[in-house]
Amino acid sequence: MISETNIMKGAMKILRNERNRCQSCGMPLFYDKKPKVHPHYCSYCHDGSSFRDGKATLRDMQKKVDELLVARNANRGQRLYMRLRLATLKRWRESRAYVPKTF
Ligand SMILES: [Zn+2]
Repeated sequence: MISETNIMKGAMKILRNERNRCQSCGMPLFYDKKPKVHPHYCSYCHDGSSFRDGKATLRDMQKKVDELLVARNANRGQRLYMRLRLATLKRWRESRAYVPKTF
């Protein structure tokens, strides 16, 4: 049986991950195995002074993340969520958000 405490713990974990996502690729910073190079970005996206793929667009990042999710057997809902979530991240927020008409 799932207790209310466990539900709360699960919800808190989701909120913590949401707060601590890399503001470029959306990966929870918790999963970044390398030393933290930037307070808002993971080591795959940022080397501490600049973005590793400085010319990438939001659309490029959405494609890259979606490929990773497909490789991990993520379901359609998870893929759509991340696609939309990426547009809300700091790196992309000011750029014109690309929201797909179809998925
Ligand atoms: Zn990242």
